[in-house]
Amino acid sequence: MSKSWIIANWKMSASRANSIEETITLTHKLPSKAAMHSLEYRVVICPSAPFLATIDTLVEDSMILLGAQDCHPLPSGAHTGNISAEMLRDSGASLAIIGHSEKRSEGDSNDVVKAKASAAVRAKMLPIICVGDDVQARSIGRDHQMVIYQLAHSIPPESKNIIIAYEPVWAIGTGKTADEIEIANMFKTIRQFMGQQFPHIRFALCYGGSVNAKNAKDLMAIEGCNGLLIGGASLNAHEFLQIIATVQ
Ligand code: PEP
Repeated sequence: MSKSWIIANWKMSASRANSIEETITLTHKLPSKAAMHSLEYRVVICPSAPFLATIDTLVEDSMILLGAQDCHPLPSGAHTGNISAEMLRDSGASLAIIGHSEKRSEGDSNDVVKAKASAAVRAKMLPIICVGDDVQARSIGRDHQMVIYQLAHSIPPESKNIIIAYEPVWAIGTGKTADEIEIANMFKTIRQFMGQQFPHIRFALCYGGSVNAKNAKDLMAIEGCNGLLIGGASLNAHEFLQIIATVQ
């Protein structure tokens, strides 16, 4: 977990053609799978689930890892329209974003997030557990409390390795990046909490929220920052490569 992580969340924004085109561009510019063991960073792309298997064939010889954007807590059954962690793993995903604020706003409670993260672990995927304060909590000075509450109730205690993505809700897709000192303070709070509550869990701590090619370097330089989760700016291969360059 000592590597730096650059994670692209393509949400529901990249068509099949765009996903293929961007992946091919990335594979041409990034190191091969054979070179991966000597690299101090990891690049993850999270396309829409229907395209995972196709993209998986494109990244076969590349250092690029695949992630899912969500998963169902159960391994199988009568759950029309849902996709289990095992199915995503079978389609090539070795990581899964869990508890993204866009899923939390659609009804995923902390308990659901914990069940989904457990499912990812069960399927041998690395969960990227997202937490973040909203405008309301921030306005009354309860941003740290909100994040700690989410962590306490969203992390499966049986986890051994996880990625925590701190993503202030008000910074996602808005062009408003959180202040670097505030992020550093939040990282300190998160690390302190993890050390007390889950000392056995190894974790990487990433920032997400309006990351782009201009601010990535400064954000990566924040004390305790192990990586970036990127939405909008990851949809453009050229800009995403510039962000990756900050950790290369
Ligand atoms: C995200 O989707 O997790 C995200 C951080 O989006 P954006 O970079 O567009 O703010």
